[in-house]
Amino acid sequence: MEQSITCINCPVGCRMTVVLSDTGGFESVSGNTCPRGAAYARQECTLPERMVTAVIPVSGSAIPLSVKTSKPVPKDMIPAVMGELSKVCISVPVSLGQVIIPDILHTGSDIVATRTLK
Ligand code: SF4
Repeated sequence: MEQSITCINCPVGCRMTVVLSDTGGFESVSGNTCPRGAAYARQECTLPERMVTAVIPVSGSAIPLSVKTSKPVPKDMIPAVMGELSKVCISVPVSLGQVIIPDILHTGSDIVATRTLK
């Protein structure tokens, strides 16, 4: 099975063709100009991951708090991560970089504040 994807690691945007086995295992990639493209292709076609960003309400602030994951999480877990974020109940003050939820859903990624709210 072949899959076409575009590398997003740099502005060149190489178009790559990934060959997967019948069971979905990675077999080969072509069209990449550098090893970063090959690594991206393998990751994207076998276990795609994404950074998650969101805003959550903060008690004592009229401005919501923007948060993000500290590293990418499996793409299929994004709805569950958003579900956990909807349960968060925090108050001011919040500092830039503060961990709001450590190791969310055992992904190894923390939810961190991307701004300070006083
Ligand atoms: S394969 Fe390499 S050169 Fe091509 S878009 Fe990806 S990072 Fe850039």
